[in-house]
Amino acid sequence: MRVVLLGPQGVGKGTQAQRLSAATGAPHISTGDLVRAEIKNGTALGATIRAYNDRGDLVPDDIIIAMAMPYLNNPKGWILDGFPRTIPQAQALDNALADARTAVDAAIVFEAPDDRLIERLSGRRQSKVTGKTYHIAFDPPPPDDPGPFLQRDDDQPDKIRQRLDLYHKETEPLKTYYGERGLLLTVEALDGIDAVAKKVIAVLQARFPHAAPSPSNSTP
Ligand code: AMP
Repeated sequence: MRVVLLGPQGVGKGTQAQRLSAATGAPHISTGDLVRAEIKNGTALGATIRAYNDRGDLVPDDIIIAMAMPYLNNPKGWILDGFPRTIPQAQALDNALADARTAVDAAIVFEAPDDRLIERLSGRRQSKVTGKTYHIAFDPPPPDDPGPFLQRDDDQPDKIRQRLDLYHKETEPLKTYYGERGLLLTVEALDGIDAVAKKVIAVLQARFPHAAPSPSNSTP
C-alpha cells in the first residue's frame, strides 16, 4: 500500500503513520526524521539543511526530493509522513512512481483547527534515548522510557505559527492536487489517538474493501 499522509504539524500524522505502518507492514517514511538524522549525524547534507529545519522553513524541493527518492521503490509500499509538502514534490513523486510503473494509492489528510494544533505542539517532547514522541498531557511517556524528553527547536511558539502558515500556503494545495486525481481521503483528527486510528482504517476499508488492514490489527 502506497499512502501519503497530509496534515498540519501537530495533527498526529507521525503517530498515525506508525499505527498504519504496524497494521499494513508498509514502512513509515518520515522526511522530517530523515532531516533530523542528517543533522544529528553531522553530515555535509545535515549542515546544508540545518538552518531550514531550525528556522521552521521548508528544505528546498530538489534536496528533499533527492532524500526521499531512495525509499520510494519498496515492494512493501510505504506510509509517507511529511512528503510531499509542495506541488513540485508531489509531481516529482508521481513521476518517479510512473517510471517504476506504480502510483500513489491514497492521500489521507488529517484536519484540525490551528489553535488546537498549537496546544498539541507546544506540549510535544521526544525521548532522547528511544526517539519516540509523546505529549506531556495527552500521551505521556511510559515508565520504561527513561528519557530525557526534549522539545524540538521548531516546536517553539513563534516557529509553530510559521510552520502552520507554511502548511496553509504550500501544502494545503495538495488537497486539490490529490482530490482532482480521486485519491483524497479526509479524517477529522481532533479525537484521541485510538479513535483517529480507527477512522483511518475505516476510510481505507471503504476505499479498498479487499486490501485495507482490519481494525483488529490496527494497533501495534
Ligand atoms: P517535520 O518533522 O515533518 O515537521 O519536518 C521537520 C522539518 O524538516 C521541516 O520543518 C522542514 O524543515 C524539513 N522537512 C521535512 N519534510 C519536508 C518536505 N517534504 N519538504 C521540505 N522540508 C521538509
